[in-house]
Amino acid sequence: MSKPLVVITGASSGIGEAAARTLSAKGHPLLLLARRVDRLEALNLPNTLCRKVDVTDITTFESAITEAEAKFGPVDCLINNAGVMLLGDAHTQDPAEWNTMLDVNVKGLLNGIHLVLAGMRERKCGTIINISSIAGFKTFPNHVAYCGTKFAVHGLSETLREEVCGDDVRVIVISPGAVETELLSHTTRQDIKDGYGDWKEQMGGVLKAQDVANAIEYAYGQPQNVHIREIALTTTRQP
Ligand code: NDP
Repeated sequence: MSKPLVVITGASSGIGEAAARTLSAKGHPLLLLARRVDRLEALNLPNTLCRKVDVTDITTFESAITEAEAKFGPVDCLINNAGVMLLGDAHTQDPAEWNTMLDVNVKGLLNGIHLVLAGMRERKCGTIINISSIAGFKTFPNHVAYCGTKFAVHGLSETLREEVCGDDVRVIVISPGAVETELLSHTTRQDIKDGYGDWKEQMGGVLKAQDVANAIEYAYGQPQNVHIREIALTTTRQP
């Protein structure tokens, strides 16, 4: 039997890219979204539609989903992975940076949920996977706004889970610790980047994007009546 459609936001690098390769290898058709569409196309995965979508723009987001569903059938799983991390302290950080994080990490994620949920509830089947973070339930220095966005992901996911579980729709939160990706490069303050780099070194390394993709695959791969509500994963040495 052919596998159902999976949508992955932010699949042009890091965790999203690893999840795309992993679920494609399992035979799923994919809709991959990001602003760097050339990076999506370079993955060269079969049965895959790549579209340039900024998740904060619900109109282009919706068009891409409509196009993919016409080609591959209804969305069975949305992986809300797109995110940015602009670290800074509350009194000096440019408020434009908070706005970007809130727009992408929270509102972009809600856009995705809004676009796929009606179909999932109607079909009584579907999985939404929200990529949060250990910073979604634990605090770190210079993370005021970023932690705020990831705590929001936890809060909205739990509320959503209660709202849709009666329709057999699963809401899964994946909360990684530090992972080697492009995420830190978004931060504009060099001293914070250097400190973060030192912290990663002290721990003797961080997770690989594939480690997180494996957790996503495990949670999604359970029978529809088995709901892995959350997976939190870090290297063993991360406090
Ligand atoms: P990367 O920077 O490698 O990937 C981020 C992805 O998000 C890119 O594909 C980027 O694509 C996409 N993205 C950013 N802004 C937008 C936007 N406006 N619209 C669409 N796509 C966007 O980092 P990670 O793989 O690490 O991050 C993935 C998720 O994992 C994030 O939500 C992050 O917060 C979370 N996470 C990461 C951890 C880590 O240590 N790396 C730890 C815990 C959680 P493009 O620029 O092409 O649009």
